[in-house]
Amino acid sequence: MSDVDNILAELRSTACHLGPWPTDEAGRLRALLAMRVLKNYPAEALQQLAELAACVADTPMAFISFLDFDTQHVVAGSNVAPRFAPRFDTLCAYTISQADAVTVIDDLLTDPRFVHLRHLGVDHNFRFYAGVPLMSPDGYAIGTLCVQDTVPRTLSPRQLNALQNVAKAVTPRLVLAMEVDKLEAEQAKFRAFMDNSPTLAFIKDGGGRYEYVNRRLLDRFNLAADDIIGKTDADLWPGEVAEQLQANDRWVLDRGQPIEMTEAGPTDDEGNPTWWHSYKFIVPGDHPAVGGVSFDISAMKTMQSRLELFARTDALTQLPNRIALHEYLPQAIARSRHNGDPLAVLYMDIDHFKQVNDTYGHEAGDGMLVEFANRLRATLRHTDFSARLAGDEFVVVLERLAGLAQAEQIAEKIIDAMAQPWNLGDSMRGISTSIGIAVLPPEDIGMEVLIDHADQALYEAKAAGRNRVVLKS
Ligand code: GH3
Ligand code: MG
Repeated sequence: MSDVDNILAELRSTACHLGPWPTDEAGRLRALLAMRVLKNYPAEALQQLAELAACVADTPMAFISFLDFDTQHVVAGSNVAPRFAPRFDTLCAYTISQADAVTVIDDLLTDPRFVHLRHLGVDHNFRFYAGVPLMSPDGYAIGTLCVQDTVPRTLSPRQLNALQNVAKAVTPRLVLAMEVDKLEAEQAKFRAFMDNSPTLAFIKDGGGRYEYVNRRLLDRFNLAADDIIGKTDADLWPGEVAEQLQANDRWVLDRGQPIEMTEAGPTDDEGNPTWWHSYKFIVPGDHPAVGGVSFDISAMKTMQSRLELFARTDALTQLPNRIALHEYLPQAIARSRHNGDPLAVLYMDIDHFKQVNDTYGHEAGDGMLVEFANRLRATLRHTDFSARLAGDEFVVVLERLAGLAQAEQIAEKIIDAMAQPWNLGDSMRGISTSIGIAVLPPEDIGMEVLIDHADQALYEAKAAGRNRVVLKS
């Protein structure tokens, strides 16, 4: 015997004087709980059935009740208000102990079986009672459908039969309510799960209209459900974003296969771009739909692009560094070859820079390198590329030159710019710079050789006395 059975057996032995018990009270209570009728019942349907019962029995009163271990719950009635009563102070406690037999009491005041319950007739103003047990699908009497009259009387066999049929109609309504309640509970659980998931989730129909979105998605884009349900990406987001999202959806629908990719999303409500790692798949049904979950990788993307920029930028001067030059120059060479425009690489190095460090200190030297970079930017066109390679070495790439002579002119301009006075604490003086130039054409060489040639030209400029430009011949 289970714990429940033991407890009930004990209670039954101590409370047997209270009234009759069904044979399997534990099973009955379990059935009652399983049907959830005490917390969820179809009130309107039960009300209609109670009224139907009053009608077929031709009585002024009828009601439907459920009985738990110690209480009767009257939940619907015709001329009977919903109420609670102690279980064994009711005739219905007897009715449910009779399984599926109908209990008919022609006159409560004279019926010898219910002498101890005669006060009920006075309390509730009735003499006649007929009660039919309401059976759970697995055969337990969980409640009653009753009719009452103020005067002694009886029911015809036809009325009794009709009353039993009304009682039978109650259970399917309870089962339906129970199933709906279960489904709603499951759906609420599923919704809570989806809404609290750290991913964005959505379902779009075959036409790309949003059918479902989770709370995370609404919150991320500061939308209400009405703003998005029934709409397409084209209704919601800028053209390019919508086109990309829709192209990915179409891919899934056309092939019937899942897809995993990174998507650029719409900007968030602070105007920041968003990035998503998305997994999209078919949601089967009468009309296949596209389901998706998207992880927000915007912060990671921002960090990634910052790191990429950081890796390609010289920390002191904020000019591009050697890595950036090595990425940029091959593309510039390819463009030059493709367009037939001359290209020049200017390799420059400050003359006697060590003296600046030695005389004015390393910090002053740093300041000079920063200023050198600023003057370089100011001298060049914004489309020209400049980088700091190391120490006092800088490289400039000039594209779309009118002629090779133009490269030399620009190099001279750079030398002039650097020769302008510098504020070095106690004095103002200019510095001299040596520049080596390598050009395309006539040479048709790759990046490494081009830089090498410019470096050789720089070496020649230094050797020839510094403060000059040497074009690799
Ligand atoms: P040269 O005329 O032959 O170019 O002689 P130089 O004195 O300029 O010497 P060189 O170009 O061979 O060396 C550059 C010096 O720049 C070496 C080093 O002391 C200094 N240096 C390198 N990196 C930094 C830096 O980040 N800050 C400062 N202040 N000095 C640097
Ligand atoms: Mg130098």
